Amino acid sequence: MLQDTINIKVNTTTKSRISEVNWEDLPFGKVFADHMLLMEYKDGQWQDAEIVPFGEIGFHPATSAIHYGQSIFEGLKAYKNQDGEVRIFRPDMNAKRFIESCERMCMPIIPEQLFVECVRKLVEVDQNWIPDREGYSLYIRPFMFATDEFVGIRPSETYKFMIFTCPVGSYYSEPVRVKIEETYTRAAEGGVGRAKAAGNYGASLFPARKGQAEGFHQMLWTDAKTHEYIEESGTMNVMFVINGKLVTPSEESDTILRGITKRSVIDVAKHWGMEVEERKVSVKEIVEGIRNGSVTECFGAGTAATIAHIIKMGYRDEVLDLNPVENRPFSMKMSQYLDDLKAGKEQDVFGWTLKV
Ligand SMILES: *Cc1c(COP(=O)(O)O)cnc(C)c1O
Repeated sequence: MLQDTINIKVNTTTKSRISEVNWEDLPFGKVFADHMLLMEYKDGQWQDAEIVPFGEIGFHPATSAIHYGQSIFEGLKAYKNQDGEVRIFRPDMNAKRFIESCERMCMPIIPEQLFVECVRKLVEVDQNWIPDREGYSLYIRPFMFATDEFVGIRPSETYKFMIFTCPVGSYYSEPVRVKIEETYTRAAEGGVGRAKAAGNYGASLFPARKGQAEGFHQMLWTDAKTHEYIEESGTMNVMFVINGKLVTPSEESDTILRGITKRSVIDVAKHWGMEVEERKVSVKEIVEGIRNGSVTECFGAGTAATIAHIIKMGYRDEVLDLNPVENRPFSMKMSQYLDDLKAGKEQDVFGWTLKV
């Protein structure tokens, strides 16, 4: 049965921690707002959701998510404009992607409207936690995991859906260095790369640590079969400007996460009249293009950073230098445009923001 409406009970804290926050130093993902949302799935349906004071939850040692990995998440942001208005960027897209992740991982779906309402309500309750400073926002983390207390491999019959939020500053202050990875793999065809499944990230840590030891921030993953084609980065999709066209690996294979930031960049670029190509992008094309100057811009697109300029690219024993950031008119303009749109300084002609 699909449930579209549900009661969200609100039990607010009597002791807000907001006065303890050091807004000058806000490490990403370490400061948590006062409340969280909890919703349980049992007896074949979602039970009423509850917003409660943020805090620990207990676990039975046989909780199946811990053993067998039915665990998925989302990430999105809410912004406050100068007039104090709060807006969430494209929560419907996260709701749709969450449904895809649920289906791939054999987990019960949450209907789009219900997911969006849970996000909206929690943001409303903790809206004081959204800094109205430039570049600041409230990072929202919805997630779901299997809770059957049972040892054995089968889809769980019970789940917890939760959301918490974190006030954050800008994610990457500096341009990033990535390394083209030709040995390890993020996702293989037929696997779960398209789902925002927890295990994908656990599996990436070992190669990422090797790359970090060599001075890179993140991997640039290639296809599992041949390692000849570029796929995406750790938590960002990768985009290029090549001979004046916006180019990005296509999502036809099920190995690439369907990023909302990337989709937004594509839509805005088309709106601006730029030619966009979603296709296979080979390592060879990029390496040669950086050398001969046809690749003029390269960036990661993701909720955390919006646009993260890629400044160096490791390829085998070489480190390729890309154009200085000030010589990247497209990505600088896009970054500013999306920031302004989210901050409410730019008119939302696409209807992408949800007012809380
Ligand atoms: C979340 C994520 C992205 C970016 O998606 P957005 O919706 O733009 O935040 C890209 N790649 C991977 C692997 C991700 O997990």
